[in-house]
Amino acid sequence: LPPLVQVKNLKKYFSVDDKKLKAVDGLNLDIFPGETVGLVGESGCGKSTAGRTIIRLYEPTEGEVLYNGKNIYSNNQKEMAKLRRDIQMIFQDPYASLNPRMTVEEIIGEPFAIHRTLSGKKKKERIKELLKLVGLDPEHISRFPHEFSGGQRQRIGIARALALDPKFIVCDEPISALDVSIQAQVVNLLKELQQRMGLTYLFIAHDLSMVKYISDRILVMYLGNMVELTTSDSLYNDPLHPYTKALLSAVPIPDPEIKRDRIVLTGDVPSPIDPPSGCVFRTRCPAAMEICSKVKPEWQEVKPGHFTACHLYTL
Ligand code: SF4
Ligand code: MG
Repeated sequence: LPPLVQVKNLKKYFSVDDKKLKAVDGLNLDIFPGETVGLVGESGCGKSTAGRTIIRLYEPTEGEVLYNGKNIYSNNQKEMAKLRRDIQMIFQDPYASLNPRMTVEEIIGEPFAIHRTLSGKKKKERIKELLKLVGLDPEHISRFPHEFSGGQRQRIGIARALALDPKFIVCDEPISALDVSIQAQVVNLLKELQQRMGLTYLFIAHDLSMVKYISDRILVMYLGNMVELTTSDSLYNDPLHPYTKALLSAVPIPDPEIKRDRIVLTGDVPSPIDPPSGCVFRTRCPAAMEICSKVKPEWQEVKPGHFTACHLYTL
């Protein structure tokens, strides 16, 4: 199958005073139907900006995003309105993203009103169905967000995102604000819904702990740049890039037989307004060499389907 979403040389710069903040500095990614791609990096690495630009909540500085082969940035308003049904977003903070004065019925029903697809009794029935689908009690349709727990509120956000039968959902750290005990439940729900509805996900996370369980492939970003991309399994079993290795070393391993040395990165993430020359990771890289400050490492396929940008692997 051809990719559902193709991201081509995507750049998103913001102007800060007279300078450019390079939030996303060249993203290339194909996302296939039914697949989940994890997008991982520390806060400020540009992953949320990437997610928002990919669904055109932001206009790009450069590059293209093809959805079903068509560049979404050249869509007119009517085409965009149609696309807004196919493409949805689930947000990090389920409380901040739900209007506290609206009932669950109004919140989940909003997309039907905006796109004028359902109204009246049919709408109410569909909202109840959606509540059931995400594991909530349809009898709670008249309640307000504060009457639900954090995990339940995220389920409301998911129900709203599903209202218009989307194809592609950008999940922007949907579990980061939840208790660890609840995180697995929400991840399992997302997986179940994916199977049932044939959804495709871009799943954004700030660390590698839960993203493994939902992602088919994972892309690691650092300071607006792509660092490594491969299947979940090979990223966990055979990480190549020093940054990925450091992120992985922070993930607790349940199996005591497997030992991983903790790699603690020193120093702060540099400002994306003034990124380091050469490799953007070099100021914190334990393996940095002379060439790393002079030449930006190229993105290359080191093993079949396993890509990275690092001079350690320059062929
Ligand atoms: Fe480290 Fe150099 Fe590789 Fe960058 S290119 S990750 S600085 S070894
Ligand atoms: Mg973010």
